[in-house]
Order: sequence, then structure tokens, then C-alpha cells
Amino acid sequence: MAHPGEPHHDDLAGRLNWLRAGVLGANDGIVSTAGLVVGVAGATTDRTAILAAGVAGLVAGSLSMAGGEYVSVSTQRDTEQAALDKERRELRDMPAEEERELAGIYQEQGLSAELAAQVAAELTEKDAFRAHAQAELQIDPDNLTSPWQAAWASLVSFALGALVPVVAITAPPTSWRVWTCVVSVLLGLVATGLVSARLGGGEPRRAVARNVLMGATTMVVTYYIGVLFGVTVG
Ligand SMILES: [Zn+2]
Repeated sequence: MAHPGEPHHDDLAGRLNWLRAGVLGANDGIVSTAGLVVGVAGATTDRTAILAAGVAGLVAGSLSMAGGEYVSVSTQRDTEQAALDKERRELRDMPAEEERELAGIYQEQGLSAELAAQVAAELTEKDAFRAHAQAELQIDPDNLTSPWQAAWASLVSFALGALVPVVAITAPPTSWRVWTCVVSVLLGLVATGLVSARLGGGEPRRAVARNVLMGATTMVVTYYIGVLFGVTVG
């Protein structure tokens, strides 16, 4: 029995999954766009060129993340749908075997044979399809992940993350722009590192250090590539 006010376990797990995906998306947006704009800023002081690269990176990255998420969740959903269809057919064609199968699952989980049979009978009476989906496939048939929702969440979280380096590098005057961007990006990565460590239950200091180091390395590498291009091309 749930305590009053305590969210249903699946809801909480679902929300945490969304939040985790959102933080990862934002982190991706920050790092990849920071690498891009810092690289361009290494090659040129032209604000319009830097802004154009940043906005293009933001849009391309958000769409690519959303597309990837859409495809992956659609595939997962097709698989789940096929399993549910098969279950529905089996329930129609051989209901007695299916009820025995359900009882077998509860018995494996620790119920006595009589109690398992009673549970299976009562759940079959109430909603056989749902009982089988949950016990056999661990799928809640009313709560399949929506590919559009997942795509939208990736798009928004990547774009929000990408805004940090785009704004930080185009807003300040030329001589400050790279350092402003580096500091803002590293602060952003401290935040996403902290939140994901909190969500994953990991050790926050190490997670933050890893995240910041990865972002800093990305910017150093792309900046010097930009500088090389600026010297040879410009
Ligand atoms: Zn079944």
C-alpha cells in the first residue's frame, strides 16, 4: 500500500528517466556547441560568422538529437506493440494455458500454488491483458513511451544547453568573448554534472570533475584547430 502523497513508483521512475535524459541532452548541447563556437572564434573575430556557426550548430544538433530519439523510441515501441499483439492473440486463442502461465509466474515470484492460481484467476477476471502485459512483458500497456514526446524533450534540452555557449560567445566584446564562453560553459557543466550525479546517486565531485574536464578538453582542441585555420586560411 502506498503512503498517502507518495507518487506511484512507476511514475517516479518515469519522471526521473525524463529528467536524466533532459540533463544529458543539455550537457550534449553545451559541449558540442561550445566546441563549435570556440573553434570558429579561434579562426575569426567576425561576430556574425561566430553567431551563424553557433545557431547552425544549435539547430542541427537539436534536430539530429530529436531525430535519433524519435527513431530509437519508435523502434522500441514497435517491439513492445508486437509483443502486446502476440499476447492479445494468445489470450484469445488459448485462455486456459495463459491463465496457467500467469499463475506460474506468480508462483515463481514466491506465492504458493493455490494463492498463485487464485491471483491469476482474479486478475484474469478483471483485466487479463493488462495482467499479462505487466507480469510477462513488464509493459504498462497504457503508458508506452511516445516517440514524439521523447523527440521533443531531446530537442528542447539540447537547444537550452546550446544557448549557453552561443549567448556567452556572441554577447561580450571581442577580447572577452572566448573567456566568457569558457567560464559560462564550465559553470554549466558543473550544474549538469551535479544534477546527473544527484539523479544517478553517484559521487558528485568526481562526476563534476569528469564533466568539466571533458568540456574543457573539447574547447581547447577546437580552439587550436580554429587558430590553425585562421593562420593558414585567413
Ligand atoms: Zn501470457
